[in-house]
Amino acid sequence: MNRRSISVVIIFVIFVSLSSCTIDNKAIKPLSKDGFMLGTFVVINLYDQKDEKIIDEVFERLREIENRMSVNIEDSDISLVNKNAGIKPVKVHQDVYYVLKKAKYYSEISGGAFEPTIGPLVNLWGIGTGNERVPSEEEIRKSLIKVDFNKLHLLGNNEVFLDEKDMMIDLGGIAKGYAADEAKKILLDRGVKSAIIDLGGNIYALGSKPDGTPWRLGIQNPMISRSRNKVSHIGIFDGKNISVVTSGDYERYFEENGIRYHHIIDSKTGFPARNNVAGISVLSQDSIDGDALSTALFVLGLDEGLKLAEKIDGVDVIYITKDMKIYISSNLRGKFEITNEEFEMMTP
Ligand code: ADP
Ligand code: MG
Repeated sequence: MNRRSISVVIIFVIFVSLSSCTIDNKAIKPLSKDGFMLGTFVVINLYDQKDEKIIDEVFERLREIENRMSVNIEDSDISLVNKNAGIKPVKVHQDVYYVLKKAKYYSEISGGAFEPTIGPLVNLWGIGTGNERVPSEEEIRKSLIKVDFNKLHLLGNNEVFLDEKDMMIDLGGIAKGYAADEAKKILLDRGVKSAIIDLGGNIYALGSKPDGTPWRLGIQNPMISRSRNKVSHIGIFDGKNISVVTSGDYERYFEENGIRYHHIIDSKTGFPARNNVAGISVLSQDSIDGDALSTALFVLGLDEGLKLAEKIDGVDVIYITKDMKIYISSNLRGKFEITNEEFEMMTP
């Protein structure tokens, strides 16, 4: 958690001169507020409005979402569903029901690569908690039995039920995306036309830059840890009203005997997903889709992941592999510009 809290922002916004906060050489200072929420560092930047109340409203909404969805909050709807696993259905707020529906949908289309009942394994590994360790085979086996989205039931009247005791929903792979979408709604309602919503790696670039030109969005070099404060990107693209969500193995992890154990778990093995992917970024209209997909596509790996991404309308992806190659979905060809020569664009 600590490591993550200071080094979460995976994609960042580049301004015209590339010196971080200038446009046409005139400094533009956004109205900005940050805070720690939803387990991550949140920043809201408004470029065309000066009313702090707007940002406060966004933060209140984010807090509300966290209070309903966090497994770390004892009386959140999700915690209540988990406590009543195998006992009885629990009625949840519409926000939670909606996110669970999306979560189940992405589990289904990804064959369980996205797995919202991953909770027992997340707890077992404890990555980011300070108590991380490599569990025994036996422990993994026991937790694996409790992980299965088919045993998560979304009933009528917003009731939710987990079939077996000790099952646990964990929305860490999707809640931030939903939160970004809700933040965007508030900003649009208040007439904001130029803003960046940043929920630790979940970016929503609202509208355009204040001068009306598209945002220049950069994908961070996954080989360089942000904690060393070196912001470096491997490529950029232009976008308006777009969500960009990245999942990688380089933000929250621990190492033991030279092996990196990170926070995205493969529900088939019970181990952190192991493949050649260093980072996967998903571009979409709604951030909830990008969030669930970035997690799923990380687990699926390059070949299967690209195939799935190509089938989904309105979604583009950028895969970066550990051998410094870049694979993009067909829609992005000609729109993604590599800015770091150490990386090579591949055509699948
Ligand atoms: P981040 O939280 O770094 O933005 P992700 O969106 O990929 O990254 O979500 C990772 C989080 O999702 C983990 O911390 C955990 O709470 C949860 N998670 C881990 N593995 C899975 C999985 N296979 N499917 C769904 N959620 C997962
Ligand atoms: Mg995700």
